[in-house]
Amino acid sequence: MSYLEETFGLSGKTVLVTGASRGIGQTAATGFAKAGAEVYILSRSKAAETVCIIEALGGKAYALTGDVTSETDVEAAIQEIFDRSGRLDVVFNNAGICIHEDTFSASIDDFRRVLDVNLTGELIVARAAAKRMIAHGIHGSIINMASMSGTIVNIPQWQASYNASKAGVIHLTRSLAVEWAPYGIRVNSLSPGYIATPMSVDTPQELKDAWMPLIPLHRMGEPEELLPALLYLASPASGYTSGSDVIVDGAYTCL
Ligand code: NDP
Repeated sequence: MSYLEETFGLSGKTVLVTGASRGIGQTAATGFAKAGAEVYILSRSKAAETVCIIEALGGKAYALTGDVTSETDVEAAIQEIFDRSGRLDVVFNNAGICIHEDTFSASIDDFRRVLDVNLTGELIVARAAAKRMIAHGIHGSIINMASMSGTIVNIPQWQASYNASKAGVIHLTRSLAVEWAPYGIRVNSLSPGYIATPMSVDTPQELKDAWMPLIPLHRMGEPEELLPALLYLASPASGYTSGSDVIVDGAYTCL
């Protein structure tokens, strides 16, 4: 095995990716499979397309259905992973939603829904996975999807609920990293800038035109450009990295 395979590879590892029916999650699940992992996908709709892509590459993938806000769904998914694979090494807590609405127009139910999926959902998945990792003596890696919106305020669209949820993810990550360090479980977050996925590609052109001058690299990122950071956080390469927020944003947050 080469140094790169040994350090960044995921051969023999089992990975769970939430929200992998499309977008960043689909690309991440495919990347983890290419690095040698057996991949489980959890989303509300069955991620058949993602499984087909991975199988066509000769990889192993299984689609599980469930909502990350439901403890029952998440427990059932983790149970199925252990029943099938007997282990879980990496969790990419990627599922998320965004509502563009000014704070006076948005309902409190909208605010609660975004916090529920983006913040509480990540806690539900991380906690259920970590409990099992600890019980099996697995020194796992949990990667929480944050966003540059966790540290800056995007303009011109208003999305206070999303920004608050992602700021919460960054500090939840630090908190869990310290709390679970004694068990050898590492917890980090990833903070992308604007990435071309269904979540952002359907965005009106005038909004995207307003974003471009604010991005020093003057373009949106591609989901594939998050893979190196994800592989770093998932693999032994990041053995001494925990509680970190890895920013991949075309330098947006520098301004
Ligand atoms: P998409 O809307 O393309 O995909 C979101 C995924 O999450 C889908 O697979 C969806 O599947 C799943 N999902 C949504 N709600 C739930 C739920 N309650 N339970 C389980 N799965 C759910 O989003 P992106 O790929 O663009 O974004 C993925 C993550 O990256 C999000 O957390 C987002 O906040 C973050 N991010 C995105 C950026 C971007 O510019 N695109 C920038 C920074 C961060 P289904 O509907 O079948 O459940």
